[in-house]
Amino acid sequence: MSTSAQKLYEGKAKIVYATEKEQEYLTYFKDDATAFNAQKKGTIVGKGEINCTVSSALLKWLESKGIPTHFIDQPSSREMLVKAVKIIPLEVVVRNIAAGSLCKQTGLNQGEKLPFPLVEFYLKNDELGDPLLTCDRLSILNIIPSEQIEQLKQYALQINQHLQEFFQSCQITLVDFKLEFGFDSENNIILADEISPDTCRLWDELEQDKQKRVLDKDRFRQDLGKIESAYQEVQQRVLTQIEKLKNS
Ligand code: ADP
Ligand code: MG
Repeated sequence: MSTSAQKLYEGKAKIVYATEKEQEYLTYFKDDATAFNAQKKGTIVGKGEINCTVSSALLKWLESKGIPTHFIDQPSSREMLVKAVKIIPLEVVVRNIAAGSLCKQTGLNQGEKLPFPLVEFYLKNDELGDPLLTCDRLSILNIIPSEQIEQLKQYALQINQHLQEFFQSCQITLVDFKLEFGFDSENNIILADEISPDTCRLWDELEQDKQKRVLDKDRFRQDLGKIESAYQEVQQRVLTQIEKLKNS
């Protein structure tokens, strides 16, 4: 990355830089880890490279399945060249299995399979603690029109179908994940941000133990140890599967 690159924004996990092209940004993936709305902070050595590489591979693969994404290129291990978007301030969460805040808020048991994929919208606002929104709160906030909310939901469900199938072939269960979308220069809604062990709950199907099977940021949230090796395992299985698909 050239030192003259203009830093536009530094988030918890990435730095966004301007490029010579107005419609392209360079995102730099850091090793910084945060959880519980940044109350817990730490470093996961090598995370930036893994999240950038895993995200790049998955976004590229989703693009090949017809999902419009911001991915352009991965010019280096920690850098992703993306289409500049105006981020929609919503975190779109898809859940296949109950875990995390869903269990805390509803009493559903951790690990319980949901009868259908649950799509939830959270307001992307750290100061407010990213609250869960209801349909009516969404319409009152008027962030985007209801037809576009429906479009986000349909994209989220399609992405879930593709990712579930993909992770299954890696012998990983896709428990849940968070997506961010934005408007590109032509005002189309496209998938942005990242898809990584930071933003997905991933359980190793080859492991029965409820702690050992965790291959995602819950290892950091819950101090389960062996975080780096879990992230490496995800990267290794994802890249192996991508290679297989290329050659088939
Ligand atoms: P956060 O602390 O909000 O999780 P991150 O460090 O993960 O932030 O990412 C930095 C910022 O980059 C986030 O606000 C994210 O929404 C934004 N972002 C991701 N992809 C794009 C894109 N293609 N164009 C513009 N902003 C983006
Ligand atoms: Mg983020």
